Amino acid sequence: MPNQQNHEDDPIRISCYNAARQRYGDDVPEAVISRLEEELQHIVRNGFSDPYIVAARIVDKANADGFTMAIRGSVGSSIVAYLLGITEVNPLPPHYQCLECRHVEWAADAVDSGFDLPSELCAKCGGKFVGDGHRIPYQTFFGADGNTSPNIDLYTAWEYEEHANNELNYQMHNSIWRSGIPVPDIIPHNAASVLKRVHTLTGIDPRSIPMNDPKALSLFRSTDAIGVTPDQIKSKVATYGIPEMGIGPVRDMLQMTQPSSFSELVQISGLSHGVGTWDGNARERIQEGAGTLRTSIACRDQLMMDLMKFGVDMETAYSITVSKRKDLPIAESVEAMLESKVPAWYMESYRKVRYLFPKSHAVSYVISAVRYAFYKLHFPMEFYAAYFSVHGIDVDMELCTRGERDIRNSPEEVRPEGYHTLQGMAPEKALQEMALELALEMNARGMRIRKSSHAGGRYVVESELYGTLEIPFIARQQSHRVI
Ligand SMILES: [Zn+2]
Repeated sequence: MPNQQNHEDDPIRISCYNAARQRYGDDVPEAVISRLEEELQHIVRNGFSDPYIVAARIVDKANADGFTMAIRGSVGSSIVAYLLGITEVNPLPPHYQCLECRHVEWAADAVDSGFDLPSELCAKCGGKFVGDGHRIPYQTFFGADGNTSPNIDLYTAWEYEEHANNELNYQMHNSIWRSGIPVPDIIPHNAASVLKRVHTLTGIDPRSIPMNDPKALSLFRSTDAIGVTPDQIKSKVATYGIPEMGIGPVRDMLQMTQPSSFSELVQISGLSHGVGTWDGNARERIQEGAGTLRTSIACRDQLMMDLMKFGVDMETAYSITVSKRKDLPIAESVEAMLESKVPAWYMESYRKVRYLFPKSHAVSYVISAVRYAFYKLHFPMEFYAAYFSVHGIDVDMELCTRGERDIRNSPEEVRPEGYHTLQGMAPEKALQEMALELALEMNARGMRIRKSSHAGGRYVVESELYGTLEIPFIARQQSHRVI
């Protein structure tokens, strides 16, 4: 029987308030409390606490063991999940928080992500202000009535998969699991392995990397910062090897829209994962100068908030939003939108959308992408070594040892067909292509992959300036290949 009472001593409530006080100070701001209470009421009333508590313990253990975990799944935009350390995505509106005195300042509506707030010092104590918050409503994961059961996928490094599963089994063993509540899933992932490897090689924790480093963000619109020309690497942006941002169609989007902020990259991620969002829709509007990245319908949660701004009531806005998760008929929703005076251009754009990506996933992907960009810019040797440690197993490394000219001029049987476009390509070819693109970029930056007799015939990244760095392939099962 679900707990109907508002239990003050519920363990999840106690943990959340402890974390909120630690983060926001003893005087927790009203906006934090009201969001937290909304979520806790749904969680406690429906008896959903266990997945959060178990996931929090697994993430704590992983962090203590030196591994990061990224969450995908419906709770990725929950303040409860955020305070418990399960997700890095803070769903509150953009705000500053002071690392010294915990003072909080809310940003104007014009800002879409706290990560885009300019560097400032705390008005109260002069301490360091950090920006956070991505403005994601809770309904998109709890449902309008708050009864949707939580679904948690924890993405971790291949090297940590077994540990994480053992920890999960141990935690499950110690909890009373209600039937019908999904058990968190542990999913091994290449990006987590690359970040772990580059963390080890550089000593720089991915979690400490700033999300507003202008030079790192410039990789998403130009090749200047990495010191190469577009001709040298056959791309006008420097995103080869960056998950979700390196493939041809997304590089075209980046080149055309020239994003310069974190929130614009979130829009790119949403538009590129959606169906009916870009081609024939946002692309045309932006090209004609009728729209911008910011005004494009890119994510599910944004659709819901836009509709509410236009005057659609919350429940209708929610059901319209859900229709873009499942590509459901839209007749009824159009009527509701007309009544609420949603602008014609918005209706037209909305009609073309068939599927929208959740914003919490987009934010999580972009956090990862910015980390990659930072390492790639500032620690190129370590970055390339880490990349090939994880991805080298899937490709013909011999091909990657060729020089710049050979890679450029390699015949089709060496260089996969459809070079620089990924769509419709077999996964093996796509992986090979991505490896060759990165090898081409390395050459242009004065580095190359070589088989070293000193390293027992193993592959190394070599640079005239910085020497060599070995590429030890990580162990993992071939069958679980993830691009
Ligand atoms: Zn302060």
